[in-house]
Amino acid sequence: MFNRSRQNLACWFTLSMGSIVIIFASLIYYIEAVDQLETTDRLLYKKARIMAASVKQQFYKNQKQVNLENVPLLGNNPEPLDSSITYARWYNERGFIVQFFGTAPPEKLEKILEFKTIKPTKNRHDWVREVTLPVRQDKLLIGYVQVGIAFTSVREALNQLRIVLTVVVLGTLGAIALVGWVLGGLAMQPIRQSYDQLQRFAADASHELRNPLAAIISNAQVGLLAPPGDDSQQRRFEKIVEAAKLMSMLVTQLLFLARHEGKLPPETLSNVDLRAVLAEVADKFPSPKLNFISDFPPQPVKITADANLIRQAVMNLLNNACKYTDDGGTVQLKLSIQAHQGLIQVIDSGVGISSEHLPHIFQRFYRVKGERSKASGGFGLGLAIAEQIVKAHHGQISVVSKVGLGSTFQIKLPLSSKF
Ligand code: ADP
Repeated sequence: MFNRSRQNLACWFTLSMGSIVIIFASLIYYIEAVDQLETTDRLLYKKARIMAASVKQQFYKNQKQVNLENVPLLGNNPEPLDSSITYARWYNERGFIVQFFGTAPPEKLEKILEFKTIKPTKNRHDWVREVTLPVRQDKLLIGYVQVGIAFTSVREALNQLRIVLTVVVLGTLGAIALVGWVLGGLAMQPIRQSYDQLQRFAADASHELRNPLAAIISNAQVGLLAPPGDDSQQRRFEKIVEAAKLMSMLVTQLLFLARHEGKLPPETLSNVDLRAVLAEVADKFPSPKLNFISDFPPQPVKITADANLIRQAVMNLLNNACKYTDDGGTVQLKLSIQAHQGLIQVIDSGVGISSEHLPHIFQRFYRVKGERSKASGGFGLGLAIAEQIVKAHHGQISVVSKVGLGSTFQIKLPLSSKF
């Protein structure tokens, strides 16, 4: 699936970039061809004009006659024009050939086209560019000058340019395809990662649901076999309720993660006093076996937030602090303002987290393997939920911990004015 998408991406990239390169190369060829043709035509026209200007009409025995004597290449005493001229011809006003230099001309002018390119034929092996100019004297047509110059070298130069451009375009297309493939791979990486994450998440969720489900099924089956009034039946039903509660808790947490993914809807946000929210949470945590200390600033700490979500995040941290701290230990909930941010700290003197686990504890379903975590019965979603909530509020969550000394979880949330 990913390889096909990568191929598609590379194909589309090559197609779009390739079209640009091909258009660019065609443009270069077109501009060069037009330039070469214009230069040739300008030269040709100049030569034909010189010849036309040398034609004279004079009266001979009371009859008008055309005198070509001084016409370069055609006259008896001609001034030489340069050698690039393949042929020069003079046609009378009715289009019949009168005099020529170079290759034998047709008897009569067919179509009078100013400029034309003549392809090589059986008799002629070179390309020729030709111009035919009508010559007038006293506004009267007296004939046509036709001049042809060699065009093969221009055609060959253009052919060579075409070959070079084709090779360059093909090479560039190959390079673009390669770059497209590499870029496609890079673009697919985050998609592949989130796909893997989703798959892992689905696998973990099913795995977590399997245990309580198995407990429900086995207890229900044994309960059905036991005679009515049997004491053990009561215990089995209790186990079923316990497993079902676990499942319900897991499903609630999964739903929470799914629902609160991404941006928060604006209607759920309000101006919240963090101090009041934390005071409310602190009231629920006077654990008799732990020293619980709360420390709040005298003034309110205003943030724009969904108060329920913030409460949930802090409760997750406090629950963990209580879970992973031995009786007689200390759990502190602190609030302060630092650098235009509300800073919440949950500090415990508990078991701590080793550095190998620290980078992973915010991942969904991640639990530090050990008796303590097993006994606490969590699914490894509490910190993931807290992190998701904090991020949705444009905040940061972090942890510092030392095994045996305790942990400090810290949440920073932007104050209202900066939100
Ligand atoms: P759980 O429901 O398993 O507690 P969490 O996502 O809340 O899941 O925590 C992930 C893991 O991080 C826990 O398994 C635990 O090992 C570790 N942890 C979290 N908070 C603390 C803490 N205050 N002290 C020690 N370990 C902690």
